[in-house]
Amino acid sequence: MLLKILLIIAVIAVIYFFFIKKSTPLTKERHDNKKRKDDEETMIECATCGTYISTSEAIVSSGKFYCSTECRDKA
Ligand SMILES: [Zn+2]
Repeated sequence: MLLKILLIIAVIAVIYFFFIKKSTPLTKERHDNKKRKDDEETMIECATCGTYISTSEAIVSSGKFYCSTECRDKA
């Protein structure tokens, strides 16, 4: 009986170990992707008012970056 329990625990431990081993590189990869995404968010200067905004927030108009549509219209 005790041996059976130990065997079940051992099997669970092995499955758990493989699961952790398998999922760890994925977690790391996900982390790297996030880091790469952060690097892509470069701060750029608004062509009108000089406010620094990230490229994801910026409004692009004729090759220039603006912080808002207001600044774009002023340009
Ligand atoms: Zn602006």
